[in-house]
Amino acid sequence: MSAAFDPRTHLAAAAELAGRVIAITGASDGIGRAVALACARHQASVILIGRNVRKLEAVHAEIATSRAPEASIAVLDLERALAADYDRVADAVLERYGRLDGLLHNAALLGTLSPIEHYDVPTWCRVLHVNVTAAFALTQVLLPALKKSADASVVFTASAVGRHGRAYWGAYAVSKFAVEGLSQVLSAELEGISHVRVNALNPGRARTAMRRQAYPAEDIETLPLPEALTGPYIALLGPASRGVSGRSFDAQPSPVAG
Ligand code: NDP
Repeated sequence: MSAAFDPRTHLAAAAELAGRVIAITGASDGIGRAVALACARHQASVILIGRNVRKLEAVHAEIATSRAPEASIAVLDLERALAADYDRVADAVLERYGRLDGLLHNAALLGTLSPIEHYDVPTWCRVLHVNVTAAFALTQVLLPALKKSADASVVFTASAVGRHGRAYWGAYAVSKFAVEGLSQVLSAELEGISHVRVNALNPGRARTAMRRQAYPAEDIETLPLPEALTGPYIALLGPASRGVSGRSFDAQPSPVAG
């Protein structure tokens, strides 16, 4: 494992992801959409996972107008999906591609910002389910496909509030602590017995719907667009991070890591 590896400083080649099959959850909007388009630009075959068919089709169409390999869509509502729905996605991936080289867990719910003392229990359960349990379940069903890759990468999306506890961030913060733990446990289990590496990446503050929901009074125009943050994702999902596993990274310099 290279201790010096920093995904922020990697300069990706134009066709860096050529030949790679990469699945992204929450590919319909925000950071997931931007990373999906960037992966396609770098010549990956992208599997767009999400719950809103119309929005996923718009991303698919945007990829189709470029010189990227054709993308595919897997509709999966991470709040409602049952075992058969996960199996259907895993079967479709194996049938169409025979393997999976990258999996980005990006979809998440913010829930509400409120004290633990008053946190709404059903909202707590929804946030933990979408942000942690669904990512676990999707990883589990896709592991056979990941293990068929000669060089696979799983990336979990972290957050600053999931590294140092912050008042009122409730289920969201707790879910992001859990995601870091899931990433480390899975990395330790797969190291030495597979070619699957597992890391966590905090995108930092970005101009998205979730950020607007968390900070309604903020001037969001001052924040970077998701498109400006895709480089570290390409580094972690692609061959640049080969041999790097069990680590937690930031996509932006630490003072702005959101
Ligand atoms: P957005 O709200 O813009 O996008 C969230 C994505 O998750 C959307 O594609 C959304 O789908 C999808 N999603 C939500 N619920 C479900 C569900 N039940 N099933 C399937 N897909 C679902 O958020 P961001 O782009 O800002 O966030 C992306 C990641 O980055 C998250 O993990 C977030 O925690 C993390 N992050 C973001 C920061 C920021 O400043 N923006 C800072 C630190 C971390 P749909 O389009 O259908 O709503």
